[in-house]
Amino acid sequence: MASVDVVIIGAGHNGLVAANYLARAGLRVIVIERSDRVGGACVTDEIAPGFKVSAAAYVSGLFRPQIIEDLELKRFGLRQVAFDPQAFCPFPDGRSLRLWYDADKTSEEIAAFSEKDAKAYPAYEAMWSQVVELTEPMILAPPVPLAELASLLRDPETEELFRRLIFSSAEDLLREYFESDEVVAALANQSVIGHFAGPTTPGTAFTMSHNLLGNIDGAVGGWGFVIGGMGALPEALAAAARSRGVEILVNTAVEKILVHGGRATGVRLADGREVAAKAVVSTADPKRTFLKTMDPADLPEDFLAAVRRIKMHGAAMKVNCAISELPKWTAAPETPGPHHRGSTYIGPSIGYVEDAFADAKYGKPSQHPWLEVVTQSVLDPSVAPPGKHTLSIYAQYSPYRLVSGSWDDIKESYGDRIVETLAEYAPNVPKAILARDVITPLDLERRFGLTEAHQSHGEMGVDQFFSFRPVPGWANYRMPVKGLYLCGAGTHPGGGVSGAPGYNGAHVVLEDWKSLRDSA
Ligand SMILES: Cc1cc2nc3c(=O)[nH]c(=O)nc-3n(C[C@H](O)[C@H](O)[C@H](O)COP(=O)(O)OP(=O)(O)OC[C@H]3O[C@@H](n4cnc5c(N)ncnc54)[C@H](O)[C@@H]3O)c2cc1C
Repeated sequence: MASVDVVIIGAGHNGLVAANYLARAGLRVIVIERSDRVGGACVTDEIAPGFKVSAAAYVSGLFRPQIIEDLELKRFGLRQVAFDPQAFCPFPDGRSLRLWYDADKTSEEIAAFSEKDAKAYPAYEAMWSQVVELTEPMILAPPVPLAELASLLRDPETEELFRRLIFSSAEDLLREYFESDEVVAALANQSVIGHFAGPTTPGTAFTMSHNLLGNIDGAVGGWGFVIGGMGALPEALAAAARSRGVEILVNTAVEKILVHGGRATGVRLADGREVAAKAVVSTADPKRTFLKTMDPADLPEDFLAAVRRIKMHGAAMKVNCAISELPKWTAAPETPGPHHRGSTYIGPSIGYVEDAFADAKYGKPSQHPWLEVVTQSVLDPSVAPPGKHTLSIYAQYSPYRLVSGSWDDIKESYGDRIVETLAEYAPNVPKAILARDVITPLDLERRFGLTEAHQSHGEMGVDQFFSFRPVPGWANYRMPVKGLYLCGAGTHPGGGVSGAPGYNGAHVVLEDWKSLRDSA
């Protein structure tokens, strides 16, 4: 039987970040991954010869610059490119709004919709800068308890910020600043990505803050692409980990976390082999970790009940395409134009997005889905043959649990529906598609091991955040069995390709290391 200091379950980006920090501190680490490659939901697929698409996660920005520096990831091949405009929002009447990295430039565009809103935009931006200042230091650190969070509310201004963020919906918050429906709709797009909620759902103001934490090469609030597709990020992490002595096994599933005398002692693999370890770190989602890979007798019943209650109803899917020409947007005919560089949102009004969510609430895929579209090949020609392009369509809402039928039966027809929706704004797209890969919620679960297709290993609402993540009482990466840790997206600060849960979890293991080593 192999024996190591730490066994890590899952070679998603968080597992690889944790492996690097643990190996850098001198520990012997093995990472075990069920699928055929590293990356988890952060991978690149070649869907037709020469066309490389980011299969699930598609835009970068959350990944913490400190991790890039600590682990010297640029030396291991990581390259990112920021995009600008950050967002292009076409409307059915032929107008459009672009949101730029530069606030003055955005204000100028907003003025075409409302002079009053253009004047209000700097105050709105300043509010988010204040939020980022408050929350940024909380990312690479274990979650602060609610009482400590409340103690930040020392003055009326911070209290007001807290009221807006925690209790408001995205629409309520935006209406405090803006009168134009288009401006509100464009800015509300950030509030629904990856959430089973609409922009009028209380708490969605808070979810906007998570998506505003982008940072590429110091450009705070900025988003971009990983050159070569998202998979190049975990590949750099894996190369860095191997250089530090980490062993990574792919095509190898962990069947069971072994517990003896109330202590995690290693894992049993699906092929029957066992790996002994002084610490077991899981980066699989909490339901998969505790309900599928552990003996219930090894965990407290109230903890298991809390895990079963975690809300993780996935509501997104992808259609990834190889295309012969770029989308020609009716609302912005210049092709290629600046608007082809970044994210395009099809969410033209709050009502549109709410209708899309209403379908999903009752188990139906949205008749008119909300979309985020990127054509990475415009800024990164390495992902498509010369003159051709890639098209990634992220679509909501596609509820994991359907009221009737199966995703396998409607996969291609609903893929068509998503493309038709896009074609209402860029009519040339259907004919330009050379190949496509429709990834339904069921595919997300099967291919990436995401329980109930949830991209964040659990909803990111305020009731499942900070010290409530993954479950109340167990938020600092140490789980109820000595030597067992959880540090995937199901832990603070949650989903997205940030590396923060892996970083935080590894540091907690290192804090405990002396006791783990001496008591083994
Ligand atoms: C469709 C979609 C779009 C997204 N878009 C973005 C985006 O644009 N930008 C962004 O920042 N984030 C995005 N995300 C979210 C982001 O990809 C995830 O939150 C993040 O990748 C989670 O990383 P992780 O390492 O915590 O977990 P995962 O990536 O889920 O990795 C966990 C790993 O554990 C493995 N595993 C599970 N069980 C076992 C077992 N028993 N034995 C061995 N291995 C096991 C899995 O195979 C997997 O590789 C998106 C996600 C999806 C699904």
